[in-house]
Amino acid sequence: MRYIEPHAHMVSRVTDDYERMALAGCEAVCEPAFWAGFDRSSAAGFFDYFCQLTEHEPKRAAKFGLKHFCWLCINSKEAEEVKLAEEVIALVPQFLDRPNVLGIGEIGLNKNSRNELRVFELQVELAAKYNQLILVHTPHLEDKLKGTRLILDALKSDRRIRPERVVIDHVEEHTVEMVLDAGMWAGMTLYPETKCTPARAVDILETYGRERLWLNSACDWGVSDPLAVPKTALEMKRRGHLAAAIEKVVYGNPKKFLSQSVNFKV
Ligand SMILES: [Zn+2]
Repeated sequence: MRYIEPHAHMVSRVTDDYERMALAGCEAVCEPAFWAGFDRSSAAGFFDYFCQLTEHEPKRAAKFGLKHFCWLCINSKEAEEVKLAEEVIALVPQFLDRPNVLGIGEIGLNKNSRNELRVFELQVELAAKYNQLILVHTPHLEDKLKGTRLILDALKSDRRIRPERVVIDHVEEHTVEMVLDAGMWAGMTLYPETKCTPARAVDILETYGRERLWLNSACDWGVSDPLAVPKTALEMKRRGHLAAAIEKVVYGNPKKFLSQSVNFKV
């Protein structure tokens, strides 16, 4: 089996994880810019992080034959301070022509606050100005439905944003339909406890079909599993899904969306 991991925070993972992913058939790993598990104190911290994502992490991945791509932004958990966010956003354009950059992400909302929404809109503006793909993080648990609605409204109100160039991540049973109806792509995040388990993700695939949906592990510094995508492929196989259908979800779909960036090649 071959697959693409469209969302993983490899800066938080050990080298063994790269090896295990490569052994499981991973051909490319994509790393959105996110919270590091702690708040950075200045824009300079983000500058170093963007260098790590565009220079150092691709070299770590290459040792295992894995291609590494990334997305750049300031994440919603650190977006409460608008002035800091503006400084970080101003850093992003100088990195956009680096060869492994796919677009702006993961932008989005965390607590659905006014400042988070302001910073989200600034970064949608950035993506529109530089014609970049967009990857969106949706809030957790009880904030998810409202946050997803706010995000979709903001994106739909900007005529420059083409829905097929946006992926809304961490969808669950109660948000997947509104994302697909908006013409955007939907990512299902496979976590051992919260978000989607493999069984729930396959239920969603069986309910909504396989168009514009993908699977990711979103593995990071917390409780998460870098092999969640191939494990979910096994769950599909166990339920009798055909090999071609499995390959479409774990390889064909992410390849189709990501290939809208000229930088993405597998
Ligand atoms: Zn993430």
